[in-house]
Amino acid sequence: MAKIFALLHTESDGSLPKAARETLAAAVNLAAQTGGALTVGVLGAGAAAAADAVAGCGAAAFITVGDHAVAHPRYATDAAAATALVQAAGAEIVLAPNTSRFARCLPGAAHRVGAQIDTHIVAVGGEGGAVHAQRWFYRQRILGSFSRTARPWMLLVDGGVCPAWQGPAGTANAQEVPVAFTAEDQRTTVKGVQAPAADAQTIRPDAVLLFVAGAGWTKKQKDGQAHIGDAGVLIQGFLRSAKASLGSSKSLVDIQSEGQETLSFMSHMNQVGQTGSTPRHAKGLATCCHGEEPHAVGWRFINERRAVNLDPNCGWAQGKADVVYVADAFEVITKVNALLNA
Ligand SMILES: Cc1cc2nc3c(=O)[nH]c(=O)nc-3n(C[C@H](O)[C@H](O)[C@H](O)COP(=O)(O)OP(=O)(O)OC[C@H]3O[C@@H](n4cnc5c(N)ncnc54)[C@H](O)[C@@H]3O)c2cc1C
Repeated sequence: MAKIFALLHTESDGSLPKAARETLAAAVNLAAQTGGALTVGVLGAGAAAAADAVAGCGAAAFITVGDHAVAHPRYATDAAAATALVQAAGAEIVLAPNTSRFARCLPGAAHRVGAQIDTHIVAVGGEGGAVHAQRWFYRQRILGSFSRTARPWMLLVDGGVCPAWQGPAGTANAQEVPVAFTAEDQRTTVKGVQAPAADAQTIRPDAVLLFVAGAGWTKKQKDGQAHIGDAGVLIQGFLRSAKASLGSSKSLVDIQSEGQETLSFMSHMNQVGQTGSTPRHAKGLATCCHGEEPHAVGWRFINERRAVNLDPNCGWAQGKADVVYVADAFEVITKVNALLNA
């Protein structure tokens, strides 16, 4: 019987992030498919209360590290706590969310427990003692299904690939696992968090719509002038009203690094494509973006695609979008914003 371990962490307010509940759902399914025994481990602030919040998941045991030393993410203490939890659980298959906190510390923990680890897992399944996982290779072009005989085997599950676990809270009777944190482990201290204001955050993975801006927004328009200021106001107005996530073409973000005037709220973090990201959203709207293959390959997981372009022969019109509006994006977005705000 496979020993399946869902390793989760809390946020600094003691809540479980959505990605942790998604991983828990994957672990519950895997335990059911393999007839395995499920243990849940939680580390971080308020770990015992977080275990209570998922007490109804059917796990045979709950273990925690809620020590003050892991109240904030920190490589040394997180790696030590995760190592102790995996060892205490006697885990064979470890599922953990691919959050920045775990992506940073779990490779180290895997080395300490002699485990093999795979990241960006998009599906996990099993039958009897056999477990297999899926992840994308070669920049999301090839979906691979694979298995490993090594145990423990740690799998970092990507966010958004499983529905978040929902079920009754209760009393988990979680066992606190003691960890001997050294002074050296705690040498790095968190002095505070600097984060952009919520409305300044343009990358919103949970948004229904991805709005992509291309370099056309910065080009000379029909009056022979560029209108970058107007473009910024229109794009930010649209993002606010539609609560959309902002993507960019490479050309647009490159303009900034070349020192030309461009949209100040845009960075390479927004770049979608072969050398950018491959976000997952139900819908996408490309504006002033040509839709070239190195860009459009990043739209692999965008289900419904539309584009606004002056050029009826742009890349989007070559079978890459469901609908192409041959129109001036400045005019279209002005009108759309007015309708959204009406
Ligand atoms: C190895 C490699 C990797 C790459 N990786 C990426 C990547 O990850 N992501 C990426 O994006 N690109 C990538 N590229 C670059 C890619 O090939 C294109 O050069 C880039 O995507 C073009 O950006 P764009 O469409 O914004 O700009 P442009 O090609 O300049 O297109 C601008 C578009 O705006 C339209 N336009 C102008 N004004 C208006 C208006 N008023 N209304 C409507 N439309 C208007 C024009 O008709 C034009 O189609 C890569 C290239 C290589 C070689």
